[in-house]
Amino acid sequence: MVSFVTGAYILSALLFILALAGLSKHETARRGNAFGMAGMGLALVATLLLVLRQLTDDLVVDRTPIVVGLVIIAVAGSVGAVIGIRLARGVEMTGMPELIAMMHSFVGLAAVLVGYNTYIEVASLHELGVGSDAVHNAEVFLGVFIGAVTFTGSVVANRKLAGRMSSAPMMLPGRHLLNLAILVVSAVLMVWFMLADGWVGMVPLAIMTVLALVLGFHLVAAIGGGDMPVVVSMLNSYSGWAAAAAGFMLGNDLLIITGALVGSSGAILSYIMCRAMNRSFVSVIAGGFGSDGGPAEDRDYGEHREIQADEVAALLADASSVVITPGYGMAVAQAQYPVAELTRKLRDKGVDVRFGIHPVAGRLPGHMNVLLAEAKVPYDIVLEMDEVNDDFPDTDVVLVIGANDTVNPAAMEEPGSPIAGMPVLEVWKARDVIVFKRSMATGYAGVQNPLFFKDNTQMLFGDAKDKVNEIVAALG
Ligand code: NDP
Repeated sequence: MVSFVTGAYILSALLFILALAGLSKHETARRGNAFGMAGMGLALVATLLLVLRQLTDDLVVDRTPIVVGLVIIAVAGSVGAVIGIRLARGVEMTGMPELIAMMHSFVGLAAVLVGYNTYIEVASLHELGVGSDAVHNAEVFLGVFIGAVTFTGSVVANRKLAGRMSSAPMMLPGRHLLNLAILVVSAVLMVWFMLADGWVGMVPLAIMTVLALVLGFHLVAAIGGGDMPVVVSMLNSYSGWAAAAAGFMLGNDLLIITGALVGSSGAILSYIMCRAMNRSFVSVIAGGFGSDGGPAEDRDYGEHREIQADEVAALLADASSVVITPGYGMAVAQAQYPVAELTRKLRDKGVDVRFGIHPVAGRLPGHMNVLLAEAKVPYDIVLEMDEVNDDFPDTDVVLVIGANDTVNPAAMEEPGSPIAGMPVLEVWKARDVIVFKRSMATGYAGVQNPLFFKDNTQMLFGDAKDKVNEIVAALG
């Protein structure tokens, strides 16, 4: 049985690696998901078999705890599955990041609970005269620390993304010193914990847990709206390390491998996103990076101009090159289907239509790519920001559909702006720019957008789906 379980664990680990490889490209993403689901299913069955095996073990005298454990797993697993299925089925695509943040918080909490459980076992054994292992204690301490930081950090991220907490950065005086002090005190507590025997170890463990919970809260609360994508991927990475730490505590190889895969792939994604957002990786880990988060300057940018759908249709019919830059508003309006229809119509008329995708457009990495793939927009006309940015001066019309922060020239032109330094789609360099949105409201980062007031920009107000449908109808 043990060798079967070991074999199943190795197969699961391979399936997880194939899943990651598959998820790195649009074309293979579905397959990647299937590999991941198969790997997780196999891992669950193998772990259950491991527990069941103990029931048939002749050396086990009292089987009651094993049966109770199995009943608890069955009940908790069923309740968790029902809640998970309901949440996942009900969540809108735009609500995905906050759901992911919530799941990260569960991983963090699980690591904390596993840590305490493991230590209670160690302390109980100590009463019976069994000495504790300093290395194992270090694993417990680190697991609880990472888990606690991940837990409160993810709860704050969830509340910020859901709009239940201000997306403005919380700027406490001396905040970096506070973080450093927590780290130093935790390191001292770790030494005490490693040397402590029995229940005494609970004291440094409990103090550190409180400090780590505060640190997680503070690290994420200090980060402003526009920088949240990096935080989400960073917490993804932390949750992986928390799971790996739980794997060490439980002596479960698959949990260690899976946690390390999530931790390292999350760290790589965070690094890629930091580069895309022109932020320093180290300062993300330290929390509260980018600008000082002061409010955007209240400037008078002048008047904006409006345009109607039929006029946009006429402009598009005369154009030879069009670039569409979608953003969060396209997801809210579910406008991807009419956008795909508009793309087909224009391409049939011989217009060169392409899409420019900003790395943090929408509310999760790859959000726009997923929506456009869903609406069957051909992959080869969906380009990354760097692939399209040099082409705007030669573009006739840019349709900015529900994007705001990702096309904001203030990022390049206003050094004091909270989004200063973030690379953006330079749409204003095109001949004509049409912005689809419902009002003059700001985007996620809460920063006014000077693009709306440029001479070559016209605003098409209304729900993006309705407006694109009107344009499609006007094109005939
Ligand atoms: P923004 O969030 O900056 O702006 C979206 C715009 O869409 C708003 O200005 C809104 O204006 C408009 N809008 C909303 N609903 C509709 C609708 N039904 N019809 C038409 N327009 C609509 O979007 P971007 O995609 O440009 O930028 C993404 C932002 O989210 C960045 O700041 C990024 O850092 C952040 N973020 C990204 C994550 C990621 O992983 N991609 C994760 C977390 C945050 P109005 O209300 O006037 O209609």
